[in-house]
Amino acid sequence: MTFKEKIDCLRFAFALCNKFDKSIYPVAVLKWLCNAIVPLIPTFFSAKIVDELVGARDVKVLIIYGVFMAVLIAVFEFFRHLTDRAMEDKLELLHIYEGKVFEESIVNKDYELLEDVDFQTAVKAYKVVYQNNYGIFYNMWFFFGNFITGMLSLLFSLILVGPSIIKCFEIDNSSFLTSYKPLVILAVSVVFIGFIMILIGNKYSKIMNGLTLKFNTLFGIFSYWYNFPLKYQNGKEIRIYNAQEAILKKRNESLNDLYMWDKKSFDSQAKYTSILMVFQMIIMGMFYLFVAIKAYAGMFGIGSFVLFLGASLQIAEGINLIGNISTILGMSTQHISYLKRIVETPQRKHIGTLPVEKRNDNRYDIEFKNVSFKYPGTDEYILKNFNARLEIGQHMAVVGKNGSGKTTFIKLLCRLYDVTDGEITLNGINIKKYDLKEYMSLLSVVFQDFQLFSVPLAQNVTTSLEYDKEKLYDCFDKAGIKDRVEQMHDKENSVIYKDFDENGIEISGGEAQKLALARALYKDAPFVILDEPTSALDPISEFEIYQRFNSFVGDKTAIYISHRLSSCRFCNNILVFDDGRIVQQGSHDELVQNTDGKYYQLWTAQSQYYI
Ligand code: ADP
Repeated sequence: MTFKEKIDCLRFAFALCNKFDKSIYPVAVLKWLCNAIVPLIPTFFSAKIVDELVGARDVKVLIIYGVFMAVLIAVFEFFRHLTDRAMEDKLELLHIYEGKVFEESIVNKDYELLEDVDFQTAVKAYKVVYQNNYGIFYNMWFFFGNFITGMLSLLFSLILVGPSIIKCFEIDNSSFLTSYKPLVILAVSVVFIGFIMILIGNKYSKIMNGLTLKFNTLFGIFSYWYNFPLKYQNGKEIRIYNAQEAILKKRNESLNDLYMWDKKSFDSQAKYTSILMVFQMIIMGMFYLFVAIKAYAGMFGIGSFVLFLGASLQIAEGINLIGNISTILGMSTQHISYLKRIVETPQRKHIGTLPVEKRNDNRYDIEFKNVSFKYPGTDEYILKNFNARLEIGQHMAVVGKNGSGKTTFIKLLCRLYDVTDGEITLNGINIKKYDLKEYMSLLSVVFQDFQLFSVPLAQNVTTSLEYDKEKLYDCFDKAGIKDRVEQMHDKENSVIYKDFDENGIEISGGEAQKLALARALYKDAPFVILDEPTSALDPISEFEIYQRFNSFVGDKTAIYISHRLSSCRFCNNILVFDDGRIVQQGSHDELVQNTDGKYYQLWTAQSQYYI
């Protein structure tokens, strides 16, 4: 990451902090001030007390120094603890807040980003940071805490020893010890060593970043295997296919990899912190030598001697903290970059503004005009020069073998993806121009991989907390699941699955499909699309469900998709897909007569299984 990118990451994180809680700044500043001042108080007063003891030995003055020292330490320690606690609370809340920012960003992103590999990589990396590193803010504030506390320690220590240093300039060049030369040597050496410490910190930062990235990946793999047997949905396959041993082996291997990598990070951390500590000791040693020389030459009183010793410790520590900054900055900005990437990834889709005309007669015509499409990041066209018209009230079927582009056609229709070339129009206007949410409200789709959620049935079907109970039961009825719901202990309020509720209901695959159909009916949109949600059923059941569903659809425009031709026989208008194109169109009777056509070929191939 370049320096500018790091700054951009910090800017991004501060903008989030500002939005959430600006009061973190005064709390942090007070905490850093206390951290820098507290260790210097006893140093300062010890020097004063020593001076008094070897000087006037006035008991009153000694008591005053003692009392002042105690009071100041108590006050600053009090504020230090208070601000420590307040800071912890604020970081906790910030952690919750960034989780919210992440989730809001994910649910509002274009669907196609959820299938994008790079975006998914950032999401996975951020999830590890969120769970494993207390999110982005903890490290960032740690970084600033170290940096500013280090600076303040340095500054206050220099102020404390300032008068003694000034004394060194009362030039007495009679000997090397009393001249200003030792001070110059000290200053030049400290700056030089401080510079080396920053360089070492920088190298350490790069190594740590690499180690952390790999650690995060390994942690993701370990989490997967750790959670695998805990998910009850995996329980059946694990037992039936006797996968216990393989899973535990995978889990142990991933834990071992994680442990080895963690150890490597710790070793590396220990190595670099030891090196930095040695340099810190060298700085302290130089200060001690300087003070000893000056005291020996009679330039420092014993008080200044004590003061210098105490302050030199803080100066060396301050330099060490500053030396560490590039490491923490590198790690912190790396973590921030994941969330920044997720939040700032622009929406790919054009979000239109045109309202969709509300029509009671549902006169909405959709037309695909010369549409071609390839998935982002791929070269192969899935649909090529595709033309189709969905007329009001039409009940249409789309058939074709797996992989011929049927679902892709529906994804484009729903604007989950936008076309690569050509256009799709609604009542003659490009669908990109319509307000996306309004446009989507026209469509009700049940996909093959539809999802039900671990919430009450009613919320699953209505996707809302408030709903029309009568309409809900009407939809249960039409979907053929009303009796089953009425038998459940909490009726429509029964929670499905056991993720959150131990009384959660396990439903069969067929029941899940019926609930998904009820959801499509409840939305009451002018277009309803069934994209093989029943493909796991036998052909006769699929045919029955499609036909039954069709009887409730009324004057809505309906599209039925299946790779099984028998399921869609009842439709007068059947589109036959092959390799991303419509190769035939017509009713079953018309299509089956063309013995050279794709439909006939598929029909004869499939019908032998039904006879
Ligand atoms: P069908 O519904 O007829 O079975 P699909 O529309 O699902 O076919 O798939 C058509 C082709 O598009 C397949 O070759 C499939 O591999 C490819 N495809 C589907 N989804 C993606 C995706 N997200 N990225 C890249 N290729 C995809």
